[in-house]
Amino acid sequence: MEFRDLSKYFEKMEATTKRLELTDLLSQLFNESTPDEIDKIAYLTQGRLAPFYEPIEIGMAEKMVEQALSRAYGIERDQVGALATKLGDWGKVAAELNQKSNFKNQSFSVEEVHNKLLEIALTTGAGSVEKKISALSDLLKLVDYLSARYLVRIPLGTMRLGIGDPTVLDALSHAKAGDKSLRPILEEAYNKTSDLGLVSKTFWSGGVDGVKKVKVVVGKPIRPQLTERLPDPKSVVDKLGEVAVEPKYDGFRVQIHFNKHKSIGFMTSDGELKETNVKIFSRNLEDMSHMFPELAASALSDVKAEEAILDGEAIAYNPLSGEFLPFQETTKRRRKHNIAQSAKDLPLKAFIFDCLYYQGEDLMGKTYRERRALVGQIVKSDTLVPADQIITSSTKELEDFLADKIQAGLEGVVVKKLDTPYQAGSRNFNWVKLKRHNAGELNDTVDCVLLGYIFGTGKRTDFGVGALLAGVYDKEKDEFVSLCKIGTGLTDEEFREIRKRSERFARTNKPARVNSNIVPSVWLEPKIVIEVLADEITRSPVHTAGKIADEPGYALRFPRLVNFRSDDKRPEDATTVDEIISLYSQQYKK
Ligand code: ATP
Repeated sequence: MEFRDLSKYFEKMEATTKRLELTDLLSQLFNESTPDEIDKIAYLTQGRLAPFYEPIEIGMAEKMVEQALSRAYGIERDQVGALATKLGDWGKVAAELNQKSNFKNQSFSVEEVHNKLLEIALTTGAGSVEKKISALSDLLKLVDYLSARYLVRIPLGTMRLGIGDPTVLDALSHAKAGDKSLRPILEEAYNKTSDLGLVSKTFWSGGVDGVKKVKVVVGKPIRPQLTERLPDPKSVVDKLGEVAVEPKYDGFRVQIHFNKHKSIGFMTSDGELKETNVKIFSRNLEDMSHMFPELAASALSDVKAEEAILDGEAIAYNPLSGEFLPFQETTKRRRKHNIAQSAKDLPLKAFIFDCLYYQGEDLMGKTYRERRALVGQIVKSDTLVPADQIITSSTKELEDFLADKIQAGLEGVVVKKLDTPYQAGSRNFNWVKLKRHNAGELNDTVDCVLLGYIFGTGKRTDFGVGALLAGVYDKEKDEFVSLCKIGTGLTDEEFREIRKRSERFARTNKPARVNSNIVPSVWLEPKIVIEVLADEITRSPVHTAGKIADEPGYALRFPRLVNFRSDDKRPEDATTVDEIISLYSQQYKK
C-alpha cells in the first residue's frame, strides 16, 4: 500500500468520532493490506512505529518539526511558526505549505515511510537533532499534502484518530469474518503479547489457527491478571473454597522478563536505545527497565533460571531500618530523574507471586498451585522474595490473616483459587482482593479518568479550575463515560497539580471516545487517571456511566481525590462500567 493511500484513510477516520464508522474504515483498510505491511499499518494508525511498550519514539519537538517544514518548503521559520499559531495544528501547517510550494507527489510505500521514520527514531547521540530534521524534511519535500499532514503528526504524537486497541481488534475481526465474532480469539493473543502488530500479522499470514497458537514471548509484556472484589472473608470462602491467601502489598506491579544469554529487546538508558537482557514492565505495561536497576540485577544474578517471566509487586524500604514504606514513598521510584540516587535512598524489594514462562515453556495454562510452587524453587534473594502465603478453606483463618495484615499497615489481602490458569488481562473471581472495610465508604477506591474541568468562582478561579469532570471506561463501547464531578475536598495544591498535569491535554471540543452530557468549560483528552474514594454509588440521570436509553446512569456520591495514578495506569486501565455496576450491587449486601 502507498503511504498516500493510507493517509486518505487517516483523513476519513479523522472526520468521524463514531466508533462503528471507525471500525468499518479500519477494517476496509486492513482488507487492503498485505501480511508484510499490516503490522506497520496497525502501529501507524495509533501514531506509533512499534508496539506501545517499546521505547521507540521519534523524539521530535515542535521546534524541530518547524525547522524541517521550513527547510522542506523554503519558508522562514518564523513564518512557519506564525502559521502554526494561526492554524493551531502542525498537520494543517504541513499540508498548507506543501500545497503552496510543492507539486511533487512521489510515491512511497507504507513500508518505506515506516522504515524512514524508524531510522529517525533510532538516530540518537551527537548530531542527532540535525540528522532527524534533515531526514524528515527530505521526506516532506517529496510527498503530497495529505501525506505531509500525517508525516508531521506522527513525530509530534498528535495523530489522535481516537482508535483504541479494542477498535483495532474489532476491525481485524470484521475484516475477515464480517462481524465481531473473532474478537475473543484475537484478544487472547493480544493479552499474551500486547502487540497489535504481531497479532494482525499472525492473523493475516496464519489465519485463526495461527492466532490461537500465539504464545507468550520473553520481552513482550503480558496483560496482568487482575482481581475481583468480594465484601468479606465469608463470601470469599463460600464462593472460592480452598484458596491461597497473600498479603496485598501496597506498591506497584512489576512484570520481570529476562534471558541471561540473549537480548530480549531495547531499553532506553541516558537517552540512548540499548539492547537488554532484562525488561521490567509496570501495571500499564510501560517499560520501566532502566528505572529499577536493583530488580534487574537480581533477576539476572539470583533467579535460578536461564530465562523466565515473573510477576510481582515492588515496594520501597528504608535501607537503615528495613521497614517498608507507604505507597506515596514507593511511587517516587517512578519519577524519571536521578535513578541511581533514588535506587540508593529508596531501594526496592519485589514480592514475586507468579511465574508465567520458564526455560522455553509458556506456563499460562498451568495451575496457580504449580506456578507458585515454581516461584518458591527459583526465586530466593534479598531483593526478589517469594510472596508470603497461606492455603486455607477456613473463614476464621482468612479473617485472622486479613486482620494481621491490616494490623501490619497493609491494604488487605489477595485471595487466589489454586486450580486456575493465568488469564492475561482478565478481572475475574480467580483472584479476589479483600480490603480493610471503612464504614460509610465503598470498600474500594475507583480509578477515574479526567474528562474536563469546570471553571469555578471565587478563589479557585486563580488556578483556572473549580471542579473536575471525571469518568470511567466503558470497555464494550471503547469510550469514556462520566461518573462524577469532584469539587470540594481538593486542596489548592492539588488543584495546581491537576492544572499542571492537564494543560497539554486541554481541548476546546469534545475529544474522540468521550461520551458525556455534562459539558465542562474545558475538555481534556482522556489521559489522566486519578484514584477516587466515595461514600456510595447512586443512580444518576445526568451521568453517562452505565446509562442505557432512558434509564439513569451511575454516579459517585461525595467523591474525593486519593492519588494520581497515571504513572501506573493507562486510561483503559481505569475502573470499568461493569465494575461500577458490580460495586453498586455489592454495597447493599453489606
Ligand atoms: P488497587 O487500586 O486496589 O491497588 P488495582 O486497580 O491496581 O487495585 P486490582 O486488580 O484491583 O488492581 O488489584 C490487584 C493489584 O494488587 C495488582 O495489580 C497488584 O499490583 C497488587 N498486589 C499486591 N499484592 C498482590 C498479590 N499478592 N497478588 C496479586 N496482586 C497483588
